[in-house]
Amino acid sequence: MLEKMEILHVEKVIEEIETMTKDAENVQRETLKKILEENGSAEYLQNLGLNGRTDPQSFKACVPVVTHQDLEPYIQRIVDGASSLVLTGKPITTISLSSGTSQGRPKFVPFNDELMETTLQIFRTSYAFRNREFPVTNGKALQFIYSSKQSRTKGGLFAGTATTNVFRNSQFKKAMKVMQSQCCSPDEVIFGPDFRQSLYCHLLCGLIFREEIQLVSSTFAHSIVHAFRTLEQVWEELCVDIREGILTSGITFPSVRSAMAKLLKPNPELADLIHRKISGLSNWYGLIPELFPNVKYIYGIMTGSMEHYLKKLRHYAGDVPLISADYGSSEGWIGANINPNVPTESTTYAVLPNIGYFEFIPLKENVEEQVHDRGDANILSMEPKPVSLTEVKIGEEYEVIVTSFAGLYRYRLGDVVKVMGFHNSTPELKFICRRNLMLTVNIDKNTEKDLQQAVEEAAKLIAEEKQEVIDFSSHVDMWTDPGHYVIFWEISGEVSDEVLKECCNCLDRSFVDAGYVSSRKVNAIGPLELRVLRRGTFQKVLDHYVGLGAAVSQFKTPRCVGPTNYKVLQILCDNVAKTYFSTAF
Ligand code: AMP
Repeated sequence: MLEKMEILHVEKVIEEIETMTKDAENVQRETLKKILEENGSAEYLQNLGLNGRTDPQSFKACVPVVTHQDLEPYIQRIVDGASSLVLTGKPITTISLSSGTSQGRPKFVPFNDELMETTLQIFRTSYAFRNREFPVTNGKALQFIYSSKQSRTKGGLFAGTATTNVFRNSQFKKAMKVMQSQCCSPDEVIFGPDFRQSLYCHLLCGLIFREEIQLVSSTFAHSIVHAFRTLEQVWEELCVDIREGILTSGITFPSVRSAMAKLLKPNPELADLIHRKISGLSNWYGLIPELFPNVKYIYGIMTGSMEHYLKKLRHYAGDVPLISADYGSSEGWIGANINPNVPTESTTYAVLPNIGYFEFIPLKENVEEQVHDRGDANILSMEPKPVSLTEVKIGEEYEVIVTSFAGLYRYRLGDVVKVMGFHNSTPELKFICRRNLMLTVNIDKNTEKDLQQAVEEAAKLIAEEKQEVIDFSSHVDMWTDPGHYVIFWEISGEVSDEVLKECCNCLDRSFVDAGYVSSRKVNAIGPLELRVLRRGTFQKVLDHYVGLGAAVSQFKTPRCVGPTNYKVLQILCDNVAKTYFSTAF
């Protein structure tokens, strides 16, 4: 369909989505059937006794709900080059490295053509709805996209991050073309071996094509903010390159240099213009529209752990709209943002019922509390049964379970979502948080979302001093007795001890979970500790993950660093400039 068309037929895509979502239950049934028919010969499914049955009831009765850990032995055999069909009906030739930022090491998950097709379907869908509200005309996109190292596994499979696997796929470029969102940078920059050099060149390409840039994007908002923070540092060097038409000697890779040489011509007028525009800005406010006068919107995942970067992104964006990209993971896609004009923080994702088979574990507080009281480790056995896509209820929270075209069956994704409404008969989900990211010492339970809200509250105190929290993370320190929460902050500039002490108290008070407050009152949890980090610490964390094979475009700062994530914990602890303990209780 893509090859014949020059430009995506937006109305047709919308019509297809409307038809499909009106009949979500049947589409889900058919999708499950297709997945099981295509993969029924795989050893994993063969051993579960489905005997050719493809209906949801038999599927749920025979196939267990699993975690990545349960599937690891199967995936490892694929990675090692198993000759038999382990999880899928066709051999897997590519492996995705999920960012694994919370566990400290990347996870392997299978990637195949079917997953690529669902990726494109999600891209087409949200583009179609977005384009109705914010049409782009033929131009270019300043995309901060990067490839991770692509390697071969022991068994000879290609391994790279999911985004790398997508960007390297020939279908990706075609899709971007029909969506009029072609990256302004050459492939040599996107696939360059050093992300700092690629980032510099992305910025340079953006400036060269500044009039043509219609949108600025990346997979996650973090990379967009990171890019413009970098521009603050290197803009004069960029201007010199443009003025002289010669790339800075800091870019060392010959392939990148020769690709950039084709674009760079001496252009003193452009260099002067950029210099004037940047010099005229007040504290970098509105940088993006000033540099790219025809930009229609800024696009990237902006919900969940990305919400922290919204404030800074808005500052750079001025009045250019921010639109959150879709909801998915290396394991597979879940939903598309089909309401692009709602405020970014309220973004929901409509589940596309033909891209996978979805189930949802209701998160009922009382069940988990029972488990906690009984000290029962087997949470799943106590949890309510998963419900199907069309059985979810508005206002309820759920953990997502995915069955994909790439060999994952009833796989717990670990994300918590809330049903905000329905688009026809398919639910619209709000991303809430990662389920396993939890600060807990004893009976207290604070999620990633609680942490984010506490940081937001305390950050208001330093905002009064014109400073901001660049990035943050947390840790539960059980070496002290009692254990306590540690919050790590990297701040943009100097803030007085007095204010930081107050921030520390504010953080402590902002965790309003009853278990936390009551434990703090009786000192069953020790005073919260705020550790202020040296500038550049989170850059070191990013470098560490990139060194492990993560892609910058997929990077998510770990919001809670567990005790086994030694390396990251060490980076954070080695870079502490100041420490404060709360006196709030
Ligand atoms: P990865 O492991 O790198 O594939 O990242 C996938 C994870 O990123 C998901 O399981 C979510 O926790 C998070 N994520 C992906 N899309 C979104 C989104 N639209 N909003 C919030 N979080 C997201």
